[in-house]
Amino acid sequence: MALNVEMIRSISVIHAFAMIGMFAIKNISIYTVILQAVWYVLSMIGITAGYHRLWTHRTYDASTSLQWFLMLCGTSACQKDAIWWAKSHRTHHRNEDKLSDPYSINRGVFYAHIGWLLQMPDELTQSEIDKSDVSDLEGNEILQFQEKYYTRLIVIGSIGLPVIIASIWNDSYNCFWACFVRIVLGLHATYCVNSLAHIGSDTDTNKPYDKSIQAVENRFVSFITLGEGWHNYHHAFPKDFRASEKNKYNPTAWFIQLTKALGLSTNLYERCESIKLNRSNKFDKRNYVVL
Ligand SMILES: [Zn+2]
Ligand SMILES: [Zn+2]
Repeated sequence: MALNVEMIRSISVIHAFAMIGMFAIKNISIYTVILQAVWYVLSMIGITAGYHRLWTHRTYDASTSLQWFLMLCGTSACQKDAIWWAKSHRTHHRNEDKLSDPYSINRGVFYAHIGWLLQMPDELTQSEIDKSDVSDLEGNEILQFQEKYYTRLIVIGSIGLPVIIASIWNDSYNCFWACFVRIVLGLHATYCVNSLAHIGSDTDTNKPYDKSIQAVENRFVSFITLGEGWHNYHHAFPKDFRASEKNKYNPTAWFIQLTKALGLSTNLYERCESIKLNRSNKFDKRNYVVL
């Protein structure tokens, strides 16, 4: 097992700063707390509506301005660039429940949660990652811009901007430390999709759509990730822009629907109930209806 030294370093630094922040923050302003909550939601939307549902699964089409917005929001979550993210996640779906899944739950809950990031993929997993085609994203100028200026975008978008805003009410010091706490909470919320939303027994509540897979419905994960925890549904119907049934708590789906109403997104793919989807055709957009 080879360690991913670069990733260990960056994850350790972010966690260390968050820990220091827990002690350093004193008399934090309510405005700073609200600001960080808003930043948490924005960065999560960048991951869920951007990295995940737009770029990885192509469940809808987004205008250039919306893509810029999602790219900037997603970058502030500190989860690397969207192309890297999509490549891992496409491999995850193609290899669901196999050891070759980059964050395979079969290697343990810790591995699926964060352990996979701390080590280099083994040969089997790397060969599957290499097979994941992201050529549809590599020509995207917005994502090329993100790759080129990734570190600067994080420093400005995830820390600099909130700190400057908090200077309006003289709370930049607390806001600086709170940024790291917010980033760590967002990281672990996303990690929970790979860990907690992949463990559970074969009950109708956990797996209402496909009992042959390990992904489960998890309310807690849905709450903290703005609707990404309806994971049995998502693995069964990965091209559905909602990633859940219509009646579920799903702020990301509501956000995408809002962008459609504003003319910023089109071609929202929805599960077609009349077509029986199976493992071989569930990624095929032709088996979904377009809204
Ligand atoms: Zn999954
Ligand atoms: Zn997915």
